[in-house]
Amino acid sequence: MKFAYSETCLDHETGTRHPESPDRLRAIRRGLADGHGVEYVEADPSERERIHAVHDDDYIDSLETFCESGGGNWDADTVVSEGTWEAALTSAGLAEWAAEAALSGADGRQTPFAIGRPPGHHAVEDDAMGFCFFNNVAVAAQSVIDSGKAERVAIFDWDVHHGNGTQDIFYDQGDVFYASIHEDGLYPGSGQIEETGTGSGEGTTMNLPFAPGTTTAAYLAALEEAIGPAIEAFDPDLFLVSAGFDPHEHDPISRMRVSTEGFGCLTTSVRDIADNADAELGFVLEGGYGLDTLSESVRKVHEIFDGYQPVEPDESVNDAAQDVIDSVKSQGFDGL
Ligand code: ZN
Repeated sequence: MKFAYSETCLDHETGTRHPESPDRLRAIRRGLADGHGVEYVEADPSERERIHAVHDDDYIDSLETFCESGGGNWDADTVVSEGTWEAALTSAGLAEWAAEAALSGADGRQTPFAIGRPPGHHAVEDDAMGFCFFNNVAVAAQSVIDSGKAERVAIFDWDVHHGNGTQDIFYDQGDVFYASIHEDGLYPGSGQIEETGTGSGEGTTMNLPFAPGTTTAAYLAALEEAIGPAIEAFDPDLFLVSAGFDPHEHDPISRMRVSTEGFGCLTTSVRDIADNADAELGFVLEGGYGLDTLSESVRKVHEIFDGYQPVEPDESVNDAAQDVIDSVKSQGFDGL
């Protein structure tokens, strides 16, 4: 894969005990160190007008001022340092690069993966929250739509938390499809099955809140039975994965049970969906807080594009997860 990376993303400092630390990127880089076919690209930070396409000017100004004054706690768990401003612009820029590289034909072993931080999917139009400042994947999706490089973009978010920011930003837009699988009851509490979009965005938001303890098999069933058919019907030009690795069975902050091999299976599934939908594919890093599980899982995603065939899980989908999938299907998304 081609990994978009910048040292600038290390300059967002969160203190010694914060789970979203620069060590996450260092761990990913160590995990990829001897990887066959690993390439790195350094991309430019986002232009302010690209950020402004999905965030309010007043919010952008107040974040810049807060960073310039040395930072501090934006909220209880979202910490700002002086370097946060450039890191956040750069993290969004890496995601923009991934979207543009995919649309320029980077696929197969060249498939792009933006490994920036801070993450983005909780950031809403007018606020930072949940360790996120600019919604990187949203900036990337809106940017390629605004520049005419794509008419429609699908985003699938497998981070263990619901991407409330991405959902909110695109909730009333018909040109971006957003699907999320997340742990029910976890931060930030949004992402219920009934949240399906509004106005011209009606039917372009899909949520599968799974119970704690859900395993890889249910994620694969959700992709095969609900998310894949809906995305194929939506017919996007670009398919971006908001790739958080906190549903890993050994991640310290969640109770989901996706294995490292399971992330390989999810990757082959999203690649198949992109192929079937004739869409270009790119990945954008979100969360993932166990340093070893994060680096192993990113490495697994990479290996899929280097030819590795993952072992499918030998387990059935539990009844509760199947009920969620069936409820989502019954809501009448196109293609289901
Ligand atoms: Zn997360």
